[in-house]
Amino acid sequence: MIDKTTKKSPDFSSELEFPFPNLPTPGKTIELAPEIRWLRMPLPFALDHINLWLIKDNNGWAAIDTGISSDKTRDLWDKILLNELDGYPITKMVVTHYHPDHLGNASWLMDKFNIPLFMTLTEYLTAHAQHSGTAGNDQSKQLFASHGLDKNLLNSMTAGGSAYKKIVPNLPNNMVRMINGDLISIGSNQWRVIVGYGHSPEHASLHCESLGIIISGDMLLPKISTNVSVWPIDPLGNPLKAFLSSINEFKKLPEKTLILPSHGIPFIGAHARVKMLYAHHNDRLEETVSACDTPITAYELLPIMFKRKLDSHQIFFAMGEAIAHLNYLWHAKELSRITRNDQQIRFKN
Ligand SMILES: [Zn+2]
Repeated sequence: MIDKTTKKSPDFSSELEFPFPNLPTPGKTIELAPEIRWLRMPLPFALDHINLWLIKDNNGWAAIDTGISSDKTRDLWDKILLNELDGYPITKMVVTHYHPDHLGNASWLMDKFNIPLFMTLTEYLTAHAQHSGTAGNDQSKQLFASHGLDKNLLNSMTAGGSAYKKIVPNLPNNMVRMINGDLISIGSNQWRVIVGYGHSPEHASLHCESLGIIISGDMLLPKISTNVSVWPIDPLGNPLKAFLSSINEFKKLPEKTLILPSHGIPFIGAHARVKMLYAHHNDRLEETVSACDTPITAYELLPIMFKRKLDSHQIFFAMGEAIAHLNYLWHAKELSRITRNDQQIRFKN
């Protein structure tokens, strides 16, 4: 996720409500509704936390997402398991998507409790492809090189699949497949799977109509815009279009639905937040089109799209995002694409 300076997007932020402004202390939970608890785990990035959720199940708790695999996170999990579950075990796990902050401890928790993992098939298989290095950093480096990324920055990217493996050392060998529209029973409630695209290949959000709650994962966040990147296995793909049509689903939710996002704090205002994201991406697309008056690479687009200095980890996401905006406009036939000296150049039609 990248925090971008917005220039002129209409601001609907006053329409968002934040009913739980206080953060859970590390190793503790906050009750958001009867039998729904919120916990946070640290992340060693600019985005320094992830929210995880516990939902009371029959004879235990369902865990939604798991944090990256690190000693720090596992120590905090041990505290939660000991003190915050009223003596009950974890009974099942749902992982929204394959990213390390969501999947990192799934295998560890499965082994500890001998429990099933619910995931969509594409997320599960993508995790394995990342882990084995067949869809890892080597392929991203090639993609970014073809989009003009500076050689020093390219060299600073970790080689092989090791970046993913470092924080997701082990992967489960099986899962329970979730499909869009499936109902997952947790305790006495049913949670409907809403699949979304553009951030990851088959991201699952979970909506409980009777409780008026949605676990949105990374698809709908209150403050930062979800990272939407082109990935090397689909270099001419259009993830931005897929993302924008996916988040339209959230406009069908009842207005007062409580949204539990993976980053930031719980909020109400799905409709306003979707409007803000549409406006945000429209602004970025307009900037991109005018930047393409002169032929440009994705790397040359970065200072136009991202006004503040980016660290090397953020540049990785920013490149994916810049290519996503260029691909969107190319698919919309507003830009043309040529390859010159092994680099992809886009320019206005
Ligand atoms: Zn993610």
